[in-house]
Amino acid sequence: MAKRDYYDILGVPKNASEDDIKKAYRKLAMKHHPDRNQGDDAKKSEEKFKEAKEAYEMLSDAQKRAAYDQFGHAGVDPNMGGRGGPGPEGFGGFAEAFGDIFGDIFGAGGAAGARRGGGAQQVYRGSDLSYAMEITLEEAAAGKDTQIRIPSWDACDTCGGTGAKPGTHAKPCATCNGAGTVHMRQGFFSIQQTCPHCRGTGKIIPEPCTTCHGAGKIKRQKTLEVKIPAGINEGMRIRSAGNGEPGTNGGPAGDLYIEIRIKQHEIFERDGDDLHCTVPVGLTTAALGGAIEVPTLSGKAEIDLPEGTQHGKTFRLRGKGIKGIRSSYPGDLYCHVTVETPVKLTEAQRKLLKELDESFRTSGDRHSPNAKSWTDRVRDLFK
Ligand SMILES: [Zn+2]
Ligand SMILES: [Zn+2]
Repeated sequence: MAKRDYYDILGVPKNASEDDIKKAYRKLAMKHHPDRNQGDDAKKSEEKFKEAKEAYEMLSDAQKRAAYDQFGHAGVDPNMGGRGGPGPEGFGGFAEAFGDIFGDIFGAGGAAGARRGGGAQQVYRGSDLSYAMEITLEEAAAGKDTQIRIPSWDACDTCGGTGAKPGTHAKPCATCNGAGTVHMRQGFFSIQQTCPHCRGTGKIIPEPCTTCHGAGKIKRQKTLEVKIPAGINEGMRIRSAGNGEPGTNGGPAGDLYIEIRIKQHEIFERDGDDLHCTVPVGLTTAALGGAIEVPTLSGKAEIDLPEGTQHGKTFRLRGKGIKGIRSSYPGDLYCHVTVETPVKLTEAQRKLLKELDESFRTSGDRHSPNAKSWTDRVRDLFK
């Protein structure tokens, strides 16, 4: 007998999403469940179940699905390497197949929470919160003690945290008898899951408090002292333990992460622990040399410009950078000289420059070191 197409078995189109495939399989698995199909139909249901299971195992695995799409049944052999094909072991793989699926549906596997043992209520850790903080380069270099406003949750004053309207009370959930979890028997195995009726709290509130809408807590703002360590850099995160959202059923609160953004500085550019800045220098100062003032993060400094300083020359001021959080020494400050061409000349200045130019011409091109080597290179190029 020819094997049926896996997509036909699950009743999904060829371009079905992973989710659709999972849903279709879950529906079929429920329908052909051995507990629901006793008697005459049992044998037929078992076949149907195994067929659906095989189709699901193939199509839920991206690699196998691709092989199946390309080569059909010849591309995938369920008897190879898998955990049991359609042999006589019957429903051996049943629990496993269901485990995967129920894990996803009820969040038992994906919940970021610890679970108390023995039928207790599900305990979940609260979500982490993140907070973006923009600081200046100076603040990043020196560190900063500051305060931020973050959300916090207080017990509701109206109901005293019970979530029930004053004068009324929460009742134990009838579905789970207050346990917050229910056990579901599936043939040979039993799954503990969060009670869908009370969502794990074990309680039902017939008349919710109108202030907090039954949550028992109210979102407020609180001030948090934050110590930003000196040397912090763009994108680094400061963790404030326990200042995230509160947990469920007494679970621990999440954490707050403060992510640092550093504002662009007017003068300095940061590269790790080093700083860079551009220093404009007048034509005559560059030619004659002399002391020039340069800015640093901790005030002004002086550079002794040698005679004949060229445009693009870099001066390094050792230790005038930033001391990174994990560094033993501060970085350096690099001052990049840009020589400025004079503009808006007066007649007198123009005359002087022309005279200077005449003087340069009479003594050849030895006054322009770059131009000299450049003319040499150009000459070599066209030789
Ligand atoms: Zn319940
Ligand atoms: Zn309330």
